[in-house]
Amino acid sequence: MRQFAEILLPLALPVNYTYSIPEHLQEYLQIGMRVVVPLGKRKLYTGIVKEIHQREPKDIKVRDILDAEDASPIISSKQLVFWEWLAQYYLCSEGEVMNAALPGGLKLESEMVIQRNLAKEIVDEELNDAEFLIVEALEQQDRLSIKEIAEITGFANPLFTIKELLSKAYILLEEELKGGYKPRRVRLVKAGPKLNEDQVDLAFELVGKAAKQRELLLGFFQYRNEMGQLPAAQLLKRCSAGDSSLKALHEKGLLEIFYDDPQAGLISQNPQAAGLFPLQENQQKALQEIRAKLDKPVLFHGVTSSGKTEIYTHLMAEVLHQGKQVLYLVPEIALTTQLIQRLERFFGDTLLVYHSRYSDRERVETWLKLFQKEHEPALVIGARSSIFLPFQNLGLVLVDEEHENSYKQYEPAPRYHARDAALMLAHQQSAKVLLGSATPAYESYFNARKGKYHLVELFERFGDIAMPEIRAINTRELRKRKQMRGDFAPELIAEIESQMKKGKQVILFQNRRGFSTFLQCETCGHVMQCKNCDISLTYHKYQHQMRCHVCGYHSPPPRECPACKSQQIKSLGFGTEKLEDELQLMFPQARIQRMDLDTTRKKKAYENIIAAFEDGDTDILVGTQMVSKGLDFENVGLVGIMNADSQLFFPDFRAHEKAYQMLAQVSGRAGRKGEQGLVLIQTSSPDHPVISDVIGHRYRSGYERELQERMEFHYPPYYRLIRISIKHRKREVLEQRASILGRDLRSLFNRRVYGPEYPLANRLRGWYQMEILLKIESKLSLKAVKQALHNQVEAFQQEHKKSAVRIIYDVDPL
Ligand code: ADP
Ligand code: ZN
Ligand code: ZN
Repeated sequence: MRQFAEILLPLALPVNYTYSIPEHLQEYLQIGMRVVVPLGKRKLYTGIVKEIHQREPKDIKVRDILDAEDASPIISSKQLVFWEWLAQYYLCSEGEVMNAALPGGLKLESEMVIQRNLAKEIVDEELNDAEFLIVEALEQQDRLSIKEIAEITGFANPLFTIKELLSKAYILLEEELKGGYKPRRVRLVKAGPKLNEDQVDLAFELVGKAAKQRELLLGFFQYRNEMGQLPAAQLLKRCSAGDSSLKALHEKGLLEIFYDDPQAGLISQNPQAAGLFPLQENQQKALQEIRAKLDKPVLFHGVTSSGKTEIYTHLMAEVLHQGKQVLYLVPEIALTTQLIQRLERFFGDTLLVYHSRYSDRERVETWLKLFQKEHEPALVIGARSSIFLPFQNLGLVLVDEEHENSYKQYEPAPRYHARDAALMLAHQQSAKVLLGSATPAYESYFNARKGKYHLVELFERFGDIAMPEIRAINTRELRKRKQMRGDFAPELIAEIESQMKKGKQVILFQNRRGFSTFLQCETCGHVMQCKNCDISLTYHKYQHQMRCHVCGYHSPPPRECPACKSQQIKSLGFGTEKLEDELQLMFPQARIQRMDLDTTRKKKAYENIIAAFEDGDTDILVGTQMVSKGLDFENVGLVGIMNADSQLFFPDFRAHEKAYQMLAQVSGRAGRKGEQGLVLIQTSSPDHPVISDVIGHRYRSGYERELQERMEFHYPPYYRLIRISIKHRKREVLEQRASILGRDLRSLFNRRVYGPEYPLANRLRGWYQMEILLKIESKLSLKAVKQALHNQVEAFQQEHKKSAVRIIYDVDPL
């Protein structure tokens, strides 16, 4: 019986391809393994086996799978089911989902690069002709991709030969050179030959007066696991001891240092004994309520600093104790830094962290660890991509700050929302879901009030600390009276000064990075624009560059206006870089730090900035939305919001919701311990209803107001949105096609179709784009709508094949 396999390829293909399974792989191949397959004339791809069957495809020539890359599966069938749902829901290919899901280290494509291993001299007799050809090519050029080798040698499938050469050590994979994935071994500690467990005092006698060594020895007894061992790094960290003390114990024969698989060192877990903070009475009540209601997803609406994180910790400990896995999603990498510190002491090495700042090797390790240890408890903290990890035994998914936009992936497909996807993931694995926020997304709150979720609320801060006092400052008035000092109101300056005198810290928030937000000619009004995008360039003073924050284009600022040659160019608007400058001038003694994308590119940058602020080494922290989310600092007396206007007046149906969330969240960083904090908001519209709601801590009031509007104007949660972006490099082609597509869709969906229209920026990265919006009543089947839409668009693309437009779907756009 011939066998076939359906293979997921990392491409935007409309369907999965079928290949035949060659004899030598028939017994061997399993679902979830990676295989190498040919595609087109010369391309080789790594794909994943999705299904094995005997249904011979009709009318096409089926090609053979070339080889398998794994000895056992690396993807579970549960994941494949989840990926299929994502592709269907977000209107993309399963291959695109796979691409987003797999860490780079698990992908192996024809892009893979090989090099000649110079340590190995050529012995002619060892090489056949084909092998010789490849080695020779590599002598000419020191690195070649498999694709290039195929081109140079004319072999359709050089992979077999390459594998042969690899095993003979004539060549090396570049991955190996860069330190791609290999199982890592860690340094572990166990009892040495001189350590007699029945006579522990003897051991301490051997240690003598060396305090750090005593501490290490005590720590070893306290933290070692059932196998009597633990990772050296953990032990040193917990005892704040240095390597020399450990080595001394090793030399005395009391402890043994050895290397093994990281799994061997897992610290023994007993959440009950882990010593969590006891909960306050109202927190205890909230936890009980949550626990009792987890038959459905629970939305936990607790004000900032009510102790949500502490409550999560208790809940997670319970689930881990049942031997299950927990996924703890956070919207911002900066947040993981503090959480790791907060949680590590309770959860030790069951804690795994997963996000883009980790190296490929680390991510692959986490992946395989979860995959192989399905029956062990594990707590994963991660950003949105951690929904793709191979959970097998998921007990709880916790989505912190569930209202955050950064849970949504914009580019590339799948354009998923990690909160919504996590709800499906949990559903498929019968896991419980807790969504938490001080400012829930209106859609989530709506779901909770309609009974789709349960709602649990907590309105007091931990320790009975009052919510911060919030005041709005009218910058329009002050500007008119010429009383602003740079970008600061006198009141804000005075408060900064007085807080610093009291030894309190200050956070200043401005949602633009860079120095000034645009450069404009004073003579003719021309604004310097990106050459690829319809977007003004931001001036970065330190690098002396104008930069596009969309495509990365940059150039030095012009000496004269490109339009009128005038030399009078002024910079307008302000970003975090300028604030930092102005502050340093006003407060020369102050220790100021900035946290934004520009200052946090290095792996440890978040840790360093956050640690300096926690340790009181920073007086003023200036930052973008990075400082607004969930961070917990003890000593913040004042939060200043430099300009609330851009949020308030952004042309989007969610603008008011987002403005409230942002302002309330930043404000929430103030006065978390000790006395009540103060928040100053600079705005030209101090009487704006959103500002009044923020000042009065009235979440519900904005919710009621906005929902009324959403109903009237056909927006979520009453309607579902699908946005169709149409792109082309030529404006005329785009406009013409978009209008035809709009007409086609109208014939299908009638008045549910809006547009085509240009979005705020007509052109991005060299592509013009227009958008069509579909608004669909929530009672209609979204699945049927998508199917009809997809068919219509396919037909349209078929009909207009020549200079086709690019079409991109965004389901539930933000
Ligand atoms: P939220 O997540 O709601 O903003 P956190 O969990 O960060 O609030 O709590 C705010 C601060 O109060 C943190 O520093 C936290 O450690 C502390 N805290 C909250 N609850 C307790 C508790 N029961 N015992 C001790 N400290 C607590
Ligand atoms: Zn000009
Ligand atoms: Zn650009």
